[in-house]
Amino acid sequence: MSMRITVVTIFPEYFDSPLGVSLVGRARETGLVEIDILDLREYGIGRHRQIDDAPFGGGPGMVMMVEPLARALLDLEETHRVLLTPAGVTINQSRLDKWSSMDSLTIVCGRYEGVDERIAEHYVEEQVSIGDYVTLGGEVGALAIIEGVVRLIKGVVGNPESVDTESFRGGMLEEPQYTRPADYDGFAVPEVLMSGDHGQIDLWRQEQRRRRTETRRPDLLERDELGN
Ligand code: SAM
Repeated sequence: MSMRITVVTIFPEYFDSPLGVSLVGRARETGLVEIDILDLREYGIGRHRQIDDAPFGGGPGMVMMVEPLARALLDLEETHRVLLTPAGVTINQSRLDKWSSMDSLTIVCGRYEGVDERIAEHYVEEQVSIGDYVTLGGEVGALAIIEGVVRLIKGVVGNPESVDTESFRGGMLEEPQYTRPADYDGFAVPEVLMSGDHGQIDLWRQEQRRRRTETRRPDLLERDELGN
């Protein structure tokens, strides 16, 4: 059975091109993943299919109403529901690992000033953030999650080793990578990589991973194996 990912959004057209190209497009074509884009307007209220309203208590902008989102989410078959919000827990690789092993994942995209809090409290399993900054809507985060999750599904990335050895595996950043030419405009590739000595190359890579992580992301070294 393939994994199903559902995205709830008021801008379904946002996803047209990115989900049709590259490995995600191929994974959909070959049935490794099924991605449904659910247009929240279908659950809008009244003739104008209203999905937002002014905030109680006053304040700028509009808030996405509880009813259309709640009805859309309750209409779905058994699934793990995730709301994108800057107030959520920041996503990391281990969270993507967990989601990639699920049969069904649903991603809820907010817009405007955000979503009525009752959705966060009663209709989703998790609230997650894509980082400490604010975007216009959750769609860009949904795409990041989809790419991150789909590439972990068995059979999507041709060589599984490339998924196992990259950044954040084992709490480290990946080492630097080079390809031809060996010298470009006086900038040379580290000699050890052309030595053919795989023991030395492994040592060099390990050392680079450790050094990079210590200097750029020392916080990673303090986390547990789940990245928390
Ligand atoms: N008023 C909200 C606040 O201050 O936290 C920001 C609302 S934002 C303009 C609209 C929507 O974009 C949010 O409901 C959420 O779905 C999405 N969004 C924006 N930044 C995000 C982030 N860092 N992580 C996850 N979702 C985000």
